[in-house]
Amino acid sequence: MYKAKAYAASSATSPVAATSIARRDPTEDDVQIEILFCGICHSDLHQVRDEWSGMMPTVYPCVPGHEIVGRVTRVGAAVNKFKPGDLAAVGCMVDSDGTCPECKAGFEQFCPNFVLTYNFPDKHLGGVTYGGYSDSIVVKERFVLRVPGNLDLAGAAPLLCAGITTYSPMRHWGVSKGKKVGVVGLGGLGHMAVKFAHALGAHTVVFTTSASKKDDALRLGADEVVLSKDANEMGKHAGSFDFILDAVAAPHDINAYINLLARDGNITMVGAPAEPLAVGVFGLLFRRRSFSGSIIGGIAETQEMLDFCGKHTITSDVEVIPIQKVNEAYERLAKSDVKYRFSIDMASLKSE
Ligand code: NAP
Ligand code: ZN
Repeated sequence: MYKAKAYAASSATSPVAATSIARRDPTEDDVQIEILFCGICHSDLHQVRDEWSGMMPTVYPCVPGHEIVGRVTRVGAAVNKFKPGDLAAVGCMVDSDGTCPECKAGFEQFCPNFVLTYNFPDKHLGGVTYGGYSDSIVVKERFVLRVPGNLDLAGAAPLLCAGITTYSPMRHWGVSKGKKVGVVGLGGLGHMAVKFAHALGAHTVVFTTSASKKDDALRLGADEVVLSKDANEMGKHAGSFDFILDAVAAPHDINAYINLLARDGNITMVGAPAEPLAVGVFGLLFRRRSFSGSIIGGIAETQEMLDFCGKHTITSDVEVIPIQKVNEAYERLAKSDVKYRFSIDMASLKSE
């Protein structure tokens, strides 16, 4: 066991602040990584403030962070895919049973025994797992990913959650050339969704509540932008979408989007507002539409997404911040004031 520097919240109302945490020494199948960048996901904010107390209550101290890139510093004797000095990445999961039908099918994200990167029981040290707002992490090799060498590392970090969470449902629902695809909410997830939908060749329409994001949406790859508060603009798209990805973090009217789906169209929620959304069933009955959800993606698919990003030179648009600015970043994230992901430069933790 060794001590690592980290930033943690000690309660739902306290700021995230410098602390020191225990990390395990690498076991034979572990990889130890010096963390270089960690993205700030809106889930970090939900979790730190215990907004998901009904589903996933927060255990304090809570060290968030599941968009991790860094460099390998040590490996266990049985590790063969990584060596010290390699670039490496870790996303939202650090373990799963590896034996259940979900794991065998490559869906570790649905394994009943998976372990999330933070705020999940830690079977090595007791307590809970601690995430990427830290100078190092130790993770089982099976959950460590390769980062294509051509990608900017600060911008690559958010691929580990915002990237896979949007890539996976788009692949599942067949987003491709000739399809009309909507993205609701131009935040961290939404802006990645736009990049992927565009790269996959779909006609991409962004729905935003922020008029100021219109130009950015087009620059990111959207073909059209709709101000979702404008009923007239919304109405023009009625019954026309093959697929809509909803990445909104707050309560909103989902029925307005269901009505935009064509026959057999699907709307998938990846946003995780704490409160239930009211779904009008009639909108689904007509045109046999479906409403579903999706959570991150499996490990093999995450590697596929990273390789896709390497091939198409896709990274997140990031605002790089020192860790000392994380509380300010949270305030801005709560107001949808980020273009389009904060990425923490972990070198800033050295001075703590
Ligand atoms: P984010 O950067 O804050 O983006 C959310 C966007 O939603 C905002 O930029 C804003 O876009 C829109 N929005 C915010 N409040 C709204 C409101 N009241 N009504 C309508 N639109 C609103 O957050 P994120 O990091 O992308 O995460 C989004 C959600 O996905 C969070 O709930 C997060 O926990 C969840 N999440 C889920 C998964 C998964 O596996 N399913 C993974 C990661 C994150 P506009 O300004 O364009 O309207
Ligand atoms: Zn996330």
